Amino acid sequence: MTARDELRREMVHNHLYMTEDRADELIGAVLAEVAATANAKIQAVRDLHRPVEHSGITICAECSGWDGETTDNSPCGYEHCPTLRALDGRETS
Ligand SMILES: [Zn+2]
Repeated sequence: MTARDELRREMVHNHLYMTEDRADELIGAVLAEVAATANAKIQAVRDLHRPVEHSGITICAECSGWDGETTDNSPCGYEHCPTLRALDGRETS
């Protein structure tokens, strides 16, 4: 049973008997699960926008349409990738 499911069950059926410590423990576990899921999805995006070397510069594979040898789009410098800039909290203009 996931922490989310256990918390839901406790809240619905047994809330009168839940201690504050147990509630804190369950809430912490749910937050950890949410963070792990979000981090996995962010890593999947970073894997798509991976750096590759092309014509002597490092470009974003996804934004440049990298096919393993050449690009389908104008090469996008890795440091200019708007997706990675957004993930890193940098300006995306
Ligand atoms: Zn990119």
